[in-house]
Amino acid sequence: MNHLWDQILEKLKEKVPSHSYRVWIEPTKVLSITDTVIELGTPNNFYETWFHDNYLSYIKDLLKQLTNRPYELIFKSGAVPEPLEKIIQQEAALPHASTTPASISVQVSQPKFQGPDVLNPKYTFENFVVGTSNQFCHAAAYAASEQPGGSYNPLFVFGGVGLGKTHLLNAIGNHIQQKHPGYRVCYIASERFMNELINCMRYEKMDQFRKKYRDQCDVLLMDDIQFIAGKDRTQEEFFHTFNTLHSSRKQIVVTSDKFPKDIKGLEERLRTRFEWGLIADIQPPEMETRIAILKNKAEGDDIYLPDDVAIYLATHIKSNVRELEGSLIRIGAFASLTGMEVTVDLAKDVLKNVIQQKSVSISLDDIQKNVSTFYNVKIIDLKSKKKIKILSHPRQVAMYLCRKYTQKSFPEIGKFFGGKDHSTVMHAVRKISQMATEDPVFKKDLDSIERIVESQNY
Ligand code: ADP
Ligand code: MG
Repeated sequence: MNHLWDQILEKLKEKVPSHSYRVWIEPTKVLSITDTVIELGTPNNFYETWFHDNYLSYIKDLLKQLTNRPYELIFKSGAVPEPLEKIIQQEAALPHASTTPASISVQVSQPKFQGPDVLNPKYTFENFVVGTSNQFCHAAAYAASEQPGGSYNPLFVFGGVGLGKTHLLNAIGNHIQQKHPGYRVCYIASERFMNELINCMRYEKMDQFRKKYRDQCDVLLMDDIQFIAGKDRTQEEFFHTFNTLHSSRKQIVVTSDKFPKDIKGLEERLRTRFEWGLIADIQPPEMETRIAILKNKAEGDDIYLPDDVAIYLATHIKSNVRELEGSLIRIGAFASLTGMEVTVDLAKDVLKNVIQQKSVSISLDDIQKNVSTFYNVKIIDLKSKKKIKILSHPRQVAMYLCRKYTQKSFPEIGKFFGGKDHSTVMHAVRKISQMATEDPVFKKDLDSIERIVESQNY
């Protein structure tokens, strides 16, 4: 069935510069072909625009030559994965190397003795944005690293996923290494600690293990301690390690996604010990902190980030800093790959999957209702064939929004508006997009409707 499209691709390969081909054509996939229509799946709305602006008429001409029939091309955005996915995954893997399973897996068949995890030099106090949500924890971490083994020992840091626990733990390690170069810092994820323990037991290297964590360690930084809950042997070993270090006034810092009392399967004697020192929690950052984190990251990674885009991201991604950063990286990568400017529209489109997952999805019904209220027209008139402008304009706006906020295809949208043809919907979408760029008064109206649609349905 794709034979026809393969022929088109061959021609396009000759004509389109290879960079553009990779960015725009490769990710685009044929979803269906009939005698008159080819439906193409694209990662997002920009693809359709790109085809329209560049090669659509060329492709249509080719189709006509090949088949002797006119073809219509329709695009369904979001139907195939973003080409950036790979790049982003690679990028995302870098800063979290110490917590990804890959770094934790120790091959049991290997008697080799693995060292502790390496501190990530990027995770410093300087790079950590402080706001009310994390101020207390930051201050405690800083104090512990200024004076290891002082008043905050052990320091127990807890908070939800992606809120900066690993970052702070590394910052403590980095700061200590700078300020107290003689200190031996052991930084390790608790799962890795467990795997190492298993290995050492198996190959009768427990002496070595104990030496390393009890005798040759001045600061123990243990990430994600909740993992050892329910693992008896590991808890036992950790308990003795803890006692040895603590009694010789060595600093211990552990992180956890839960408060000690809430970690199921954690031994009572460990729980009490964690409560000896200071327990500090990190809360999700508030709006200003989220914006500051984004700006900080954008500056560090050389990503141009206008204020309105920062506000858009910070408004929609609230509970996880890792996701916030991930979105910024995604936008930056998209902009630099395609040469497009970073705008709110670009952000919306690139992140539509991320952000929509969190929202109750917006339905065609919702959009029709909101548009009919805004323009004070009846829904039945939006679905009618009446051509007077006071009805056809709101109808086109509604079609445009359906296309923008839902994953529905042109024919599906047409059907929902009283059985209209897909070309009517395509025309509406194009017309409204154009009006929005040419008519600032209308653009304001459109923005207000979009805000209503978003706020009522997220
Ligand atoms: P956790 O260990 O709590 O799951 P991480 O420490 O891995 O979270 O943080 C996730 C990402 O968010 C990291 O890239 C980290 O640098 C970043 N991050 C979190 N909080 C902050 C902050 N306050 N300032 C700057 N970056 C932060
Ligand atoms: Mg972590």
